[in-house]
Amino acid sequence: MSKLVIVGTVAFDAIETPFGKTDKILGGAATFIGLAASQFNVDAAIVSVVGGDFPQEYLDLLSDKNIDISGVEIVKEGKTFFWSGKYHNDMNTRDTLATELNVLADFNPVVPVGYKNAEVVMLGNLHPLVQMGVLEQMNKKPKMVILDTMNFWMDCALEELKAVIKKVDVITINDEEARQLTGEYSLVVAARKIHEMGPKYVVIKKGEHGALLFHEDNVFFAPALPLEEVFDPTGAGDTFAGGFAGFLAKTEDYSFENMKNAVIYGSTLASFCVEKFGTERMKKLNEKEVYQRLDQFKQLTQFEIVLENIL
Ligand code: AMP
Repeated sequence: MSKLVIVGTVAFDAIETPFGKTDKILGGAATFIGLAASQFNVDAAIVSVVGGDFPQEYLDLLSDKNIDISGVEIVKEGKTFFWSGKYHNDMNTRDTLATELNVLADFNPVVPVGYKNAEVVMLGNLHPLVQMGVLEQMNKKPKMVILDTMNFWMDCALEELKAVIKKVDVITINDEEARQLTGEYSLVVAARKIHEMGPKYVVIKKGEHGALLFHEDNVFFAPALPLEEVFDPTGAGDTFAGGFAGFLAKTEDYSFENMKNAVIYGSTLASFCVEKFGTERMKKLNEKEVYQRLDQFKQLTQFEIVLENIL
C-alpha cells in the first residue's frame, strides 16, 4: 500500500440548495478527498491550514478516520477559509456567493517528514503556489501526482496554475473548467490541449453526466449512477478525486486499465456524497454500502454485444 499526501482546503461551507440551507458546516476540498480516500484504509495525510475558530470535533473526525492531520496548521488568531454557494434548480450548476481565503491567504504548507516520500500526491483545490510548494517538498519523485482545481484559480492565478499543471500526471477538472482553461468547447479537443500542457491523463468530470478519462488516443467513460435523491452536490468532485487517488494508492497500479477502475470507485463514492448535506453521508459510509453500489454500477454499465452477423 502506498502513502498518500493530500493538500487542499479544510473549510467552513454555507450551502443553499433547492432542498434547504445550512449555516457554516464542515467542508473543504481536502476534507472530502480525505474522507473518500479513508475508505481504502490507506496511509494518508492532509496538509492544510485552519483558524482558531475551527472546532476540534471536526479535526477529530478526520483523525478518527485514520487520516494523519499533523500537517494541518492551526493559526490561533486567524479565521478558517470560508466558502458559500447556491445551487440552481438543476443541481448541476451553482453560484459562488463568497470565497473568504482568511488563513489560506498566507499559508506555507509543511509536508510531515514521514510523508515526504509518499508515492501518491493529491493536489486538491487551493492556490497553485501552495500545490507547487507541496510538490517541491517531496524527497523523491512521486509515482503519481493528481491535481484538481477550479475556475476561481484560473481567474486569479492562471500562470501559477499552468506551472503546476506542467508537473502533474493526472488532472481532474470539470467540463466547464476544461473549456475555460483551453478555450475549446469540444471536450475531446480540450483534453488534447490539456495533455499538451503536461498531464498524461486527463479526467473531465461532468457532474450527473459522469466522467471521461483520456490518455493518448484512449478514452474511457463512466456514467454517474442515476440517483433518486440528490440533496447537495458540494464536494462531489473532491470525493471523486479522493476515491480515484485512494484506489490508486491502495492498488499501486498506475496503468490506464487500473485507472478505469479508479474512475469507477471515484464515481461510486461521489454518488454517496451528494445524498446529504456536506460531509454527513461520507462520515457514516461503510464498506458494505460501497460494494453494493459498485455492484449496481456494474449492472448499469455492463453489456454483451454481438459484433457480427446481425446487420
Ligand atoms: P466541489 O463541490 O467538489 O467543487 O468542492 C466544494 C468544496 O471546495 C467546498 O467544500 C469548498 O470549501 C471548497 N472550495 C470552494 N472554493 C474553493 C477555492 N477557491 N479553493 C479551494 N477550495 C474551495
